[in-house]
Amino acid sequence: MKTLVYDVAVIGGGPGGLAAAIAARERGAQRVCVVERAEELGGILQQCIHNGFGLEVLGQDLPGPAYAQHFGRRACELGVQPLLDTMVLEVTPQRRIFATNSREGIVEIQAGAIVFGMGCRERPRGALAIPGTRPAGVFTAGTAQRLVNIEGYMPGRRFVILGSGDIGMIMARRLTLEGAQVERVLEIMPYLSGLKRNLVQCLHDYHIPLQLCHTVREIKGDRRVEAVVAVAVDGGGNPIPGSEETIPCDTLLLSVGLIPENELSRRAGICMDALTGGPIVDEGMGTSLPGFFAAGNVVHVYDLVDWVTLAGEVAGRSAAEYALGQAPAHVRRLRTVAGDNVRYIVPHRLDAASLTRGAQQLQLRVQQPVEEKVSVVAEADGVEVWHKVERYVRPGEMVTVKLAPDLYDPLKRATELKVSVRKPA
Ligand SMILES: Cc1cc2nc3c(=O)[nH]c(=O)nc-3n(C[C@H](O)[C@H](O)[C@H](O)COP(=O)(O)OP(=O)(O)OC[C@H]3O[C@@H](n4cnc5c(N)ncnc54)[C@H](O)[C@@H]3O)c2cc1C
Repeated sequence: MKTLVYDVAVIGGGPGGLAAAIAARERGAQRVCVVERAEELGGILQQCIHNGFGLEVLGQDLPGPAYAQHFGRRACELGVQPLLDTMVLEVTPQRRIFATNSREGIVEIQAGAIVFGMGCRERPRGALAIPGTRPAGVFTAGTAQRLVNIEGYMPGRRFVILGSGDIGMIMARRLTLEGAQVERVLEIMPYLSGLKRNLVQCLHDYHIPLQLCHTVREIKGDRRVEAVVAVAVDGGGNPIPGSEETIPCDTLLLSVGLIPENELSRRAGICMDALTGGPIVDEGMGTSLPGFFAAGNVVHVYDLVDWVTLAGEVAGRSAAEYALGQAPAHVRRLRTVAGDNVRYIVPHRLDAASLTRGAQQLQLRVQQPVEEKVSVVAEADGVEVWHKVERYVRPGEMVTVKLAPDLYDPLKRATELKVSVRKPA
């Protein structure tokens, strides 16, 4: 078995993994590799041919493949070694990676630090338990995206989309542009689950109706989908009898959530957060196992790829510092705690001393939308230390808490930092 040795090994060549690899090289790690199961770098962005990528980090509005290529090129210029077409099978707590490819069989990679960057996957039909037969014509939105944008196939002509996630809305527009009829988007919650900008640019601009508080009760069809039965739901998500409506269509797309891809991390023994589906991380994107870091949607599902890149850079820098023996020693971390109307906060742990090296960023998602001004308040052991006003908050859009270096003093002895989102008194 071939054995390779690296300072930093990154698993996954999407925007999170690429940013980590670049940052690790720039921070001084000499031998950095990216292990990627696909034949090229870029991750999911290769199938995201719409624009909207790069406004935050590059100041440009790029399509997904161009954004990915920018970082792929940069990584190669810096001497990051891509190990393509290579699937990681196992990672051990001793920082050994076992991977396989068709050229070398099983390969062992020993690394000074490892960055998980495996991204996320879509929630499938099986997770929804929609009654009905199992005809052809039910796809996840991301599968349809791949079929249309990469393989060049139209998966149907007349669509209903279940779930108002971003991929579903983006595909509603894409399919319309390809000449298909998108009958409507059904969303079980009383609010949108994706970005408002996608509601406007992908649904409103193309006159595609969105029905909130609605779901699919039944899929009809023998060999191929012939219709779905939509139904309104009450506040508890229960179908309202008598509200059923049969919508003829030949394809149902599911856009009902993304799940961080953490089988490798779990098997390696990393502590996970049940809410995010990702590892519990600190301000350097370090996980519960020393020498293991996490970058991108493997941590939690970001709303913008630009944030994935920025968080990947943090993970890569920390991984390089660990591998070079330059990580801060004897760190005491406070817990970040989700307060009123906050579903989760990342990172979960924060070293107040890191503020002496620069501002630190927390990101959170709210539980409920509020379409009016709210205060985002951070309290250290019950004492308010930071606040800002947002014009609105929505579950589909992350809120950023930027902690400036002058918060070091109020935070240095605190044990927890609770962030709440409240209507102003
Ligand atoms: C189907 C789908 C469609 C999406 N469409 C959009 C969209 O249209 N717009 C948008 O903004 N976001 C979209 N997303 C969200 C997307 O995950 C992020 O936008 C972004 O790509 C996240 O970057 P990442 O680096 O965290 O993960 P990814 O881009 O997913 O990259 C992860 C990489 O890890 C590799 N990998 C995973 N496991 C292994 C392993 N065991 N061994 C080796 N390599 C491995 C994968 O092949 C992949 O290349 C989509 C997500 C999915 C799942």
